[in-house]
Amino acid sequence: MTKYKELETKYEFDVYPKRDLVIVKGKNAKIWDNEGREFIDCVGGHGSANIGHCNEKVIAAINEQASKLITCTGVFYNDTRALLLEKLINIAPANLTKAFLCNSGTEAVEAALKFTRFTAKTKFGEEKTEFICAMRSFHGRSMGALSATFNPKYRKDFQPLVPGFSFVPFNNIEKLRQRVEESNGKTAGIILEVIQGEGGVNIGTEEYFAEVRKLCDENNILLIIDEVQTGFCRTGKMFACENFNLQPDIMCLAKSIAGGFPMGAVLCSDKVEIPLGRHGTTFGGNPLACAAANAAIKFMLEEDLAKQAEEKGNYFVENFNKQIEEAGITKIREIRQLGLMIGIELKEKSQPHILNLMDDGIVCMPAGPTVLRLLPPLTISNEELDIVIEKIVKVLSYN
Ligand SMILES: *Cc1c(COP(=O)(O)O)cnc(C)c1O
Repeated sequence: MTKYKELETKYEFDVYPKRDLVIVKGKNAKIWDNEGREFIDCVGGHGSANIGHCNEKVIAAINEQASKLITCTGVFYNDTRALLLEKLINIAPANLTKAFLCNSGTEAVEAALKFTRFTAKTKFGEEKTEFICAMRSFHGRSMGALSATFNPKYRKDFQPLVPGFSFVPFNNIEKLRQRVEESNGKTAGIILEVIQGEGGVNIGTEEYFAEVRKLCDENNILLIIDEVQTGFCRTGKMFACENFNLQPDIMCLAKSIAGGFPMGAVLCSDKVEIPLGRHGTTFGGNPLACAAANAAIKFMLEEDLAKQAEEKGNYFVENFNKQIEEAGITKIREIRQLGLMIGIELKEKSQPHILNLMDDGIVCMPAGPTVLRLLPPLTISNEELDIVIEKIVKVLSYN
């Protein structure tokens, strides 16, 4: 065991299922370990590396801001933060007009839940406090976000969680409508991912989201869309909800918002209220994160990264399907893909294949027991995608 593995094993809580790699460097879609081995990165920081590792524009912005001002609490105005807020609202769906800045996805979800409860209670009465969530959802690990997260494995040892959360099958409008009726006017918010990432790359339909929107409007329910993983060009649009003509009341963002630098944000429509002093965070909206985000978003727009993700995703699936067929591989149940958010559902466990791919210079991750999930940086080249395809076809043809 190398020194670094030893140290982490000795001093860090064993909460992550570790891969046997010490990653020390990244550039675009490639990462390197401490022995100089090169990998094509289809983990992409679980979706936080959309603009590529160590993006030059983000490096420059962080360097410049770091020598000017790193920390600045929300009680003062700040130039860099002000420009980011304008930028975020400009790229967001048109009905989202206000933002709250924080430091991670789970914090964005926490804020969304608090804002929703506050708004619903203030406008519609003390009883309107409940949330409806989707089965197989993932919204984070803090107590509120965990209460909206489905996986019993993540939840069971931490109960009691926040009361008032219930789950219905994803992409099933009848079950959702029924739950809203059962709640007797007490539903404050519905929280959904447009594409469930962690839950298996499950893609909702446009008809479903249209009905969800209607259901929310008819029942004074706020619609929270968690775009933490799907946001920032991943699915071929700046935000995945644009693929479905969906306007959320609240949108949660994090992961790729700042080129890999930790940051989160909640964007809200003018239906949402939260008054002075009712929420806050020390580091939220700090100038360093804002500078990184400004540079990252500028890069996405200038490079039309959304279009790139769409084209590369389609390129991948087309060529992958062709080669799978040529190789006569029958282990695949289904491919679910939008842009470069790709889930390959197998008829068997995905984990052994993921380990074999690592030996072949490709890192990727599961999404549930049978899905192989790919979230490469959107700056990945077609040549790199060809290699990914070749290696997946290769490991899937092992017996
Ligand atoms: C990763 C993720 C979160 C949690 O984000 P953290 O920054 O890890 O707290 C929430 N929602 C979705 C959809 C995610 O993919």
